[in-house]
Amino acid sequence: MPADFSFSTTRPLFGQVAVVTGASRGIGRSIAIALARAGAYVVVNYFHSRDAANEVVQICRDSGTKAIAVKADVTLPQDVEFLFQKANELGTPAILVNNAGIASAKLLLDTSLEEWESLIKSNLTASFLCAKTVLPQMISNRYGRVINISSIWGLAGGSYEVAYSASKGGLIAFTKALAKEVGPSGITVNAVAPGAIETDMLNALTADDKQVLEEQTPVGRIGLPEDVAHAVLFLASPSASFMTGQVISPNGGLVI
Ligand code: NAP
Repeated sequence: MPADFSFSTTRPLFGQVAVVTGASRGIGRSIAIALARAGAYVVVNYFHSRDAANEVVQICRDSGTKAIAVKADVTLPQDVEFLFQKANELGTPAILVNNAGIASAKLLLDTSLEEWESLIKSNLTASFLCAKTVLPQMISNRYGRVINISSIWGLAGGSYEVAYSASKGGLIAFTKALAKEVGPSGITVNAVAPGAIETDMLNALTADDKQVLEEQTPVGRIGLPEDVAHAVLFLASPSASFMTGQVISPNGGLVI
């Protein structure tokens, strides 16, 4: 008898609306494509990179699902409101991936108040705004998956990255506290804390810096966006219903 590859197992997220912030490039792009291939209807949020976002939408649609690109600066409440209004044109969101973020490598003593506030806004406040906007719908559906993209530096602290580490550590505490608050409503909230991943965010590193990172990483390589997308896909799936308030860290063993 042929194997029964039913739709629900090959496309476990079929028809679920997923909002991925910062999905025009890098890790967010890979997450959006992975969710689309699992059947989700994907909202590809972007800020500056419109052409790149449209390309991600096309790749998602080519996998046989629905996708739209929505421009929104997720640090601004009115833009976040607009993002979820557009998302609702596809249906009520079941999955939110708070991925948009910025990085800055500086000594604390060289970090201005403006730079500090900008990192906290992009990497922490944006997740607060997106979660706050979508949660009433998830609560009334008694189902939701919120996945926050943190960083190993949010776990271990990175020197020259005090502000970035603080924003990502805050995101982990946000994840754990919110998981307790909304678990009874059928919503899980988890964090993914990647190690060094090959994206534009690593452009500031020299080839020598990257070689050192590879040597320090037990599996001997820098990660790929797909390494993060696999973890997100698992947490987004219905089968991860007993996972909440957790931090999964695809980092090749750099931080154990
Ligand atoms: P990236 O290649 O620099 O891409 C950043 C993405 O975020 C872009 O799509 C950008 O959109 C979007 N974005 C930034 N600010 C935004 C805003 N205010 N509103 C909407 N979108 C915004 O970065 P990445 O490496 O993929 O990083 C993605 C996430 O993973 C970040 O949260 C980062 O901190 C985290 N992370 C990265 C690494 C790494 O090594 N790469 C490691 C650990 C954690 P536009 O281009 O359209 O402006």
